[in-house]
Amino acid sequence: MALLEVKGLEVEFPMRAARLTALRGVDFTLDAGERLGIVGESGAGKSMAAYAILNLISEPGRISAGEIRFDDQRLDTLDDEAMRHIRGNRIAMIFQDPMMTLNPVLTIGTQMIECLAAHTAMPERQARELCISKLREVAIPSPEARFDAYPHELSGGLRQRVVIAIALLLDPAIIIADEPTTALDVTIQAEIMGLMMELCETHKLGLILITHDLAVVSDVTQRMLVMYAGRVVEAGTTAQIISNPAHPYTRGLLQALPQKNTPGGQLNQIPGTMPSLIDVPAGCAFHPRCGHADAQCTSALPELRSVKRRQVACHHAEDLA
Ligand code: SF4
Repeated sequence: MALLEVKGLEVEFPMRAARLTALRGVDFTLDAGERLGIVGESGAGKSMAAYAILNLISEPGRISAGEIRFDDQRLDTLDDEAMRHIRGNRIAMIFQDPMMTLNPVLTIGTQMIECLAAHTAMPERQARELCISKLREVAIPSPEARFDAYPHELSGGLRQRVVIAIALLLDPAIIIADEPTTALDVTIQAEIMGLMMELCETHKLGLILITHDLAVVSDVTQRMLVMYAGRVVEAGTTAQIISNPAHPYTRGLLQALPQKNTPGGQLNQIPGTMPSLIDVPAGCAFHPRCGHADAQCTSALPELRSVKRRQVACHHAEDLA
């Protein structure tokens, strides 16, 4: 059985005159120690899926259908107290900007100890030793000195390493990383992703990596989901999807990568923009941007189905894969 199972997940935001549906029947699983990438443009629903898992959807948003199971326990029906025990403890989250996670007026050590104190009754000396060992594990130089430093005294890369150390403090089973390297320089990005892969292997840690960067997904993950307008449109092994995408949206994302084009040539673009989630087009939501759309595409919703050893939500996937 999968460690995490998301089934038929729907998230909606009721508004005065309309209803915004941010997720529309999302299904996926994550096994222990597996690295899963979720990709798509802004507004595709990738971060919303992560927030739903951790019950972090802000009001008036709510899970309106589906279920989330972790370690054979329903998460979507847990009360706040029980969810607090899961969040940060069994499932940890890393955000794009470490300064969103770190408090600028508290030392790194204070913040780590506070995190431990929220979940355990560990004596202070033991807690300090554990924190320093985690800082060492994420390759922070002079961890004893950094324990007493403030976030502004560290570089962006070191701050993100501290955030990863905090996420590891309670030995979680899963880390959800939402664009963890977007705010960093390219060389630091590679180091951080290398570190995360190493930690996943050492601790048999499951990783859900949310990103718009297909190159990062290709390097780091074993399986991937492509999301569009609140739905999964393609899912399968990363190698398979990257080498032979079946959904026209996935193809468009891959063709837009700079290295796929002649150096100096014009970048390929997917025409148009992601639809408003208040007014998603009928049929396939991608049809206004798709060069393969026909009458069936504008009227019938393509279900996610097996095509050539992956899942694709496209009426013409057999011809396109
Ligand atoms: Fe394009 Fe039609 Fe496939 Fe949608 S279902 S991606 S519009 S071909």
